[in-house]
Amino acid sequence: MTSSARDLADFRKVDTWIFDLDNTLYPAESNLFHQVDRRMGEFIANYLEVVPEEARRIQKHYYRTFGTTLAGLMKQHGVRPTDFLDYVHDIDLSPIQPAPDLARAARALPGKRYIFTNGSRRHAERVAEKLEVLHVFDDIFDIASSDYIPKPTRHAFDRFCSAHGIAPERSAMFEDLPHNLETAHALGMVTVLVHSSYHDHPAQRTISPDRPLPPHVHHLTDDLTGFLNALGPVIAPRDSVDNTGADGETGGEKELDRGTST
Ligand SMILES: [Mg+2]
Repeated sequence: MTSSARDLADFRKVDTWIFDLDNTLYPAESNLFHQVDRRMGEFIANYLEVVPEEARRIQKHYYRTFGTTLAGLMKQHGVRPTDFLDYVHDIDLSPIQPAPDLARAARALPGKRYIFTNGSRRHAERVAEKLEVLHVFDDIFDIASSDYIPKPTRHAFDRFCSAHGIAPERSAMFEDLPHNLETAHALGMVTVLVHSSYHDHPAQRTISPDRPLPPHVHHLTDDLTGFLNALGPVIAPRDSVDNTGADGETGGEKELDRGTST
């Protein structure tokens, strides 16, 4: 399922491909993020010495008020971010499997590719390794890199873009949380909402394939790999984009099959 409010030709200008991690690069149906979600509650219950129900309430309250649960814990309780992130990302990765089709589709995208996550670099590396897609990314920009100030703040996007010399108007961003695409849209990026059945933010409930997309969501898909494959005919071959020093891939590896499923 894919729906678009804009022409796919917008992707022709794109030379920077930005992907969220959780529930974007792997399907929300794997319930991997449920483990992170549960461990956040455990961390709060232990740290604040409250019962699980109260920990859950605090967790979601901080998430909605401060953008991430961690941001609230740092601001209100002085929690050390590494203590929190190490705890909540200590999860079992067995629910996700290697995704060779996604790796192939991402590797065919011309230009640079990044993971931009409100989680930790270590978590992103572990998950991307398990998916066997880590090698297709030029770098990971994590929550520590943005001073623990999360997406969708302008601060996080500005830090990310300046760290990597990114031109937002030549970038595309893929995300499962619609509000994280508001800043991307405001900066001039092409935006793709990767639709997820896992809803933990009210903004997700306002968007459905049956309704017109809001202005900050240019495209909607529930099949990231299929969407990337469908871009094949419209985007420039990788060789035609200045990709100096990207990742040393050979020309032969760039000759990839591109399907058209959506
Ligand atoms: Mg996500």
